[in-house]
Amino acid sequence: MVQIQLPRLVEDLQNYAAYGRDERGGITRPSFSPEDLEVRIRFIEELQELGLDITIDGIANIWGKLKGNGKKKGSIVIGSHLDTVPNGGKYDGALGTLVAKEIIRTIIEKNIILDHDLEIVSFTAEESNDFGLSTLGSRAFVGKLSEEELRIAADSKGFLLSEALQTVDGDIDRIHEMAAMREEKKVFVEMHIEQGKRLESNGKSVAIINGLVGVYRSKVTVIGEANHSGTTMMPHRSDALTAVAEMILAVEQICGEDKTDLVGTVGKLDVEPNAVNIIPGKVDFVLEVRGECQDRMDRVVDEINSKWNEIAKRRGVQISQLLLQQQQPTKLDEEIVSILQKSADQVSVPYMTLPSMAVHDAAHMSLISKSAMIFVKSIAGKSHCPEEHSTSEDIKLASTVMLNGILAIDQQID
Ligand SMILES: [Zn+2]
Repeated sequence: MVQIQLPRLVEDLQNYAAYGRDERGGITRPSFSPEDLEVRIRFIEELQELGLDITIDGIANIWGKLKGNGKKKGSIVIGSHLDTVPNGGKYDGALGTLVAKEIIRTIIEKNIILDHDLEIVSFTAEESNDFGLSTLGSRAFVGKLSEEELRIAADSKGFLLSEALQTVDGDIDRIHEMAAMREEKKVFVEMHIEQGKRLESNGKSVAIINGLVGVYRSKVTVIGEANHSGTTMMPHRSDALTAVAEMILAVEQICGEDKTDLVGTVGKLDVEPNAVNIIPGKVDFVLEVRGECQDRMDRVVDEINSKWNEIAKRRGVQISQLLLQQQQPTKLDEEIVSILQKSADQVSVPYMTLPSMAVHDAAHMSLISKSAMIFVKSIAGKSHCPEEHSTSEDIKLASTVMLNGILAIDQQID
């Protein structure tokens, strides 16, 4: 059994958390921000110190390669992302990226020569961003975003993505080069915090992830009738907001009755005219449903829609919808999952096998390489906030599974 040096990784996590530290106690380090630029420079320097070959691709993903003995073609890739949400925590993304660096450092120090090349990656703009393109780096890398889409992408102030990329050594004119790079990525393994409570409530520290949930998002507009809140008697109203209140409760009820891991959420409302003394005439919101089974998700969305139609009819409001996203659930690679499970058994780390309820870069990488993930328990299930925490003991267990898993993958995958 090979082990990383935990104190070094813990110190790395601490050091990287200084970039974008904000006054609310969290970390604000969105991609293309000055803080992101600084952390990228540090990361690249540290990869160079390890003697890795550095490549910044067109979409500004950072790659560092440790050459193997050349016996086997293609590379095993490990890594995650270094950007954060506003006022986020120090583990989401950084853990997966820094553990990858520590694993490579350990392999170099122990003079282990792999049959494959081993690569570290830090993907650009994994989190939701002002360009409206989350998991930007991995999606573009695997070819899911066309060069045309990337060329016209701009943030809310009209700043072009192509210009943003220049600030971090990306280049829209080199996007096409990623097609050739894709060919050599044989395996991808990403460590990430769980961001939920399933591990904690089962008394486990580590999960091997065998799939990622599908995400359905629909923009819903409900039209009622704006009118004076004093002079319009209750029977004469068609209040868009009370209709929406009932619609949201229906989402909670229908998703709650589902016995799988399916979840449904309405997280944001826009009420018009949003005034104290006017009955709301129009409400826009986004319905999000996540689940591991597409059929279940389809059935739940159908059920929600028929319930909504009944509510609309009864309350005299109109509903229209615009589909925003329909990402299918992703199955991760069974062979890689099984090697990681066996590695966990061999190093005596108890684990669960779970699907991920959040989308990660691994969902896209799974289209071009044999992919899997390892989750570390999140204390109280918290993430995307300053309280986000995973213990050093849990990180150590997950790192041991990952390091020994990577060595086994190198041996067992041809
Ligand atoms: Zn993340």
